[in-house]
Amino acid sequence: MPDNLDHESTNECPNIKERIRQAHSEDGVRIWQAIGRTQTSKNHQNCNVARCVANDIAHTDDSPSHVRADCTCGSDGPAPGELLSLAEQGSMPVVRFDAERVALDAWTPDIPLIAISHALSDGLCNRRGNDLPQCQLRSLKESTTAAMSRLGYPEGSPFQVWIDVLCIPAREVQPGGTSEDAVQTMQMVATTAWAVLVVDSDISRLPQSCSFQHAFFSILYSSWNSRLWTLYEAMRAKWLLFQFADGVLDLDDIESKRGIEIEGSSDHFPPSLPYRELYSMLCGEDPVMADTWSWVSASLRGRRTNYLKDACFIFRSLFSISLDPGRLEVTGTPNTLDDEQMMAFYLQLAQQATHPPIPNGIHNTNARQ
Ligand SMILES: [Zn+2]
Ligand SMILES: [Zn+2]
Repeated sequence: MPDNLDHESTNECPNIKERIRQAHSEDGVRIWQAIGRTQTSKNHQNCNVARCVANDIAHTDDSPSHVRADCTCGSDGPAPGELLSLAEQGSMPVVRFDAERVALDAWTPDIPLIAISHALSDGLCNRRGNDLPQCQLRSLKESTTAAMSRLGYPEGSPFQVWIDVLCIPAREVQPGGTSEDAVQTMQMVATTAWAVLVVDSDISRLPQSCSFQHAFFSILYSSWNSRLWTLYEAMRAKWLLFQFADGVLDLDDIESKRGIEIEGSSDHFPPSLPYRELYSMLCGEDPVMADTWSWVSASLRGRRTNYLKDACFIFRSLFSISLDPGRLEVTGTPNTLDDEQMMAFYLQLAQQATHPPIPNGIHNTNARQ
């Protein structure tokens, strides 16, 4: 079948396919195609081999979607006044799912907090207000309850939930970039949450019993893993959990599949998911950027952010460096930038590290200007 026809009939993103080919050879592409590909619910018409823009803000809805396309349920969320006043008092707003309602709460370290990590393009985004369709809230209640069970808590144990759309006052997500306050909140959440639960439209279709290969390609080439911010949340998570179709698995559950399946397998077998190694490289004692950049850059490739200014904030968090977006005069969206240009931009940010800088040209094999 000619490549063009194949792309049209399968909604196959040429950029995702090429990134898989480069990282996992043709064997990887075959496995990805055999599992039904990823991000097939997204619009890849504006994508090409050099970039996938399907999850960028310019190409996605600014209102949330229902769990099923034919659902017409109403919305619910914290009252805007209460959310603002809680934030202004210096408390971190979180929510509880009480009976059929969403209740606003102030974060307390004594109650387990589950943070939801997702791509804004995946239906749980609302740029007009702090509410979500009731069907989505029911789904979040179910998956966070399953997460508590996976963490070993008895049924009925109290817990709190943080998700940006319900907990960051809508005014702090400004046109042009996320506010400093919102960024500080997101950093605090990622480091204080007892667990980070990934909710993604590809991963949540998989049964828990799926193979490691299936889970690996679904996670690594999901919408969730295409965003820069989610890398920080994944690395910093004390427990990294994933919502599957019939429950919740954590990173160890998925890695243990690999250990079992790799025995006796003569096929191409994908490596472990990279989040733990990235954490030990970037968050260990005195990380040396020059030693780790080639590894880190492999996990940055294909990741995008809605505003270039936000990439500065994220790099500041990822690499513990001080960056002043004002001084860099970074504005606008990466709308027209392809993967190579994004990598060149990321390298510029990383080179400002307070740790020993990356020598020019030595580890910079992927960042052509
Ligand atoms: Zn695409
Ligand atoms: Zn609904």
